[in-house]
Amino acid sequence: MSDCIFCKMIDGEIKPDIVLETDSVLVFHDINPQAPTHVLIIPKRHIPTMNDLEPEDAKLMGDLCLAARKVAEREGVSGNFRTTINCGRDGGQEVFHLHMHLLGWPPS
Ligand code: 5GP
Ligand code: ZN
Repeated sequence: MSDCIFCKMIDGEIKPDIVLETDSVLVFHDINPQAPTHVLIIPKRHIPTMNDLEPEDAKLMGDLCLAARKVAEREGVSGNFRTTINCGRDGGQEVFHLHMHLLGWPPS
């Protein structure tokens, strides 16, 4: 998708602050963090929203969850994190390339 900001990151046209990259997903810091750890986990394939998922995308969504787990561990927030996928404008989605937010807090 030529006008998608997250696809531009995957293509290297825009360089985000990458924390993890695998064959299927890219993880980078959110530009406007809402928690001490706030990263976005995106599939490398352009899927606009959760409503566009097909049964064959089940593994890909599992990859997003496993990437979240790995990054949470690395960032020291394994026991204190939240994941969110906003869907649709009224669901709070602003970027229409499916992404999972990982928000984490250091242990108290
Ligand atoms: P949404 O509201 O769609 O669930 O989340 C979009 C997220 O993308 C927001 O938290 C916003 O701060 C982040 N974001 C938007 N533009 C950029 C950007 O250019 N770079 C980075 N790293 N994050 C962005
Ligand atoms: Zn995209």
